[in-house]
Amino acid sequence: MGVFVEQEVQGSMAGAEGSLELEDVEQVLLLMGECTDDFLFIRDIQTDECTITANALKKFPFESTHISNAGEIMAKICHPQDYEALVQAVSNLVEGEEKSHCIEYRWMGRDGNPYWVRCRVKVIFDAEGRPRYMLGCVTELGRKNVIDSLTGLYREVKLGSDLALLHAKGNNIAFLLQIGIDNFREINEKYGKKFGDQVLVDVCGCIRQCVSDGDIVYRMGGDEMLVLVRRMEEKEDPARELYQKIRRTVDKAIFAGGYQHFYTISGGSAYYDREEGENPLKLLERTEFALHQAKEKGKNTYVRFDKKEYEDFVARLDLQERLRQSVDANYMGFELYYQPIVNVKEKRILGAEALLRWRDNVLGMLSPGVFIPLLEESGLIIPVGRWIIRTALMQCQKWQEKEPDFRININISTIQIRKSNLLSDIEKYMEELNFDRKNVMFEVTESGELEDGGNSAGVLQNFQKKRLNLGIDDFGTGYSNLKYIKDMMFDLVKIDQSFIRNITESQYDYLVVKQFTELAHSLNLMVCYEGVETEEDLRCVLGLNPDYLQGFYFARPVARDDFTKLYLCRTFDF
Ligand code: C2E
Ligand code: MG
Ligand code: MG
Repeated sequence: MGVFVEQEVQGSMAGAEGSLELEDVEQVLLLMGECTDDFLFIRDIQTDECTITANALKKFPFESTHISNAGEIMAKICHPQDYEALVQAVSNLVEGEEKSHCIEYRWMGRDGNPYWVRCRVKVIFDAEGRPRYMLGCVTELGRKNVIDSLTGLYREVKLGSDLALLHAKGNNIAFLLQIGIDNFREINEKYGKKFGDQVLVDVCGCIRQCVSDGDIVYRMGGDEMLVLVRRMEEKEDPARELYQKIRRTVDKAIFAGGYQHFYTISGGSAYYDREEGENPLKLLERTEFALHQAKEKGKNTYVRFDKKEYEDFVARLDLQERLRQSVDANYMGFELYYQPIVNVKEKRILGAEALLRWRDNVLGMLSPGVFIPLLEESGLIIPVGRWIIRTALMQCQKWQEKEPDFRININISTIQIRKSNLLSDIEKYMEELNFDRKNVMFEVTESGELEDGGNSAGVLQNFQKKRLNLGIDDFGTGYSNLKYIKDMMFDLVKIDQSFIRNITESQYDYLVVKQFTELAHSLNLMVCYEGVETEEDLRCVLGLNPDYLQGFYFARPVARDDFTKLYLCRTFDF
């Protein structure tokens, strides 16, 4: 039940000169009822008699415009869940504790359905200053289409005008707190829409309990609610405190309701500071962003809008857009670099790893660490991935004219595995180019995503069936899973450069690499060490018997023509 502070106007019908008799007032009231959609009433506090305008009778079960026992009738008409609060609000007026109120609650209609109303009441005092009459105006909220029928909260449409008002009225400080129910879709799917609706109504009830007079609560559609708070507070982050209060109340309600199924809420807030000349309409965008961040951070948490994070987010979107334009412009700006891979037994460069580069018009050359995640997030990695495979295979064929056994390693992302017809694309390109499949190795970075219940493992097994070589990249970081090795889907293990980086100093890293190489070899897997940077590294790792080596000691990744000039057919003497 929302309670609003109203302007304090003291009314009095008695004592003033030329004042109206009660009957006259009732007549005026009934006539006024014909000029408005609202229901007007006057209720005598002493006799409990009440006159209500005729327009209320159509929808609500009042028997006549004259009611002799208003208290009893209201007990019938008021929604049972709202009755206690109504009694409290009325008794505050009757006891003289308040001179007016504005409350929202439900009336039961003749059709048995509840309808949300807003009831504004002013007390009229007698000559001795005692409360004598209640003069009221009841607005049916649903009619104005600004009220959500399930929760009784304002709908989003009203927020725009409230925010505009906020600006016009010159509030100095205000904030929006948006609350979302975590995993609401799953709640609906698992326990049914009815249960979901109940959760929503409960959370809204908790929010209403926690807000203060004058705060406005909206339902934003779906599982999101929003509180507009317009007041000065000395606290550092009052929105956080409000969120925490709501969360505690929700927890208590869950406990009291004996629900077996717990749910949580997330919150995001943004502050309006008129002095900074900010547009209050932007507030909503920011609040939504903050809530989104809270969900990203694992839910059941609160995030206050942060400009820097927002700017980073916008910059990422912007970069994603530029990537998309590059893709649309026939992959303009994308280029493959190649890093030599040394065949240890032959002491020769017999292959290369293709590494993607992207040159932005403004930002210049960017590292794949920056833009590959963006390609993955946006799904652009799928077309770009196809381009990479084709380009690398064609380049490899050119180099084979000079170095017939030249091999190419191509990185593929888990997104390509999960969401595209990777295998048939590869087959198609190899057929088109008449490429010998033994000369290509696809590198997959090990990650939990390969086991996410999708068909990734199935796709990888098909690589094996089609005799396509597969390597595990960056092995030893994160998800090192010996199951991969056991399933023998792979032909090559690339031990992550972080192990090689310290190998001359760390006995531990040395032993891990040594043991692992032996294990891999005993299972007929080939081993490549990445990140060989110095002569010392090289001396140290040669004793461990790797099949391939890669690293800055031999060469950095370079553009195609540089590779041809500098590294093709190159041999080493180590
Ligand atoms: P990766 O596949 O493990 O590639 C090896 C990375 O290590 C490359 O970084 C390479 O420049 C770097 N590197 C090689 N030798 C040394 C060394 O001795 N010391 C040091 N510190 N670094 C060395 P790059 O090119 O920045 O690529 C980073 C990652 O981006 C790659 O790691 C791979 O996961 C991803 N990536 C690159 N190109 C592609 C691509 O075409 N497709 C996909 N899906 N991912 C790619
Ligand atoms: Mg790689
Ligand atoms: Mg790697």
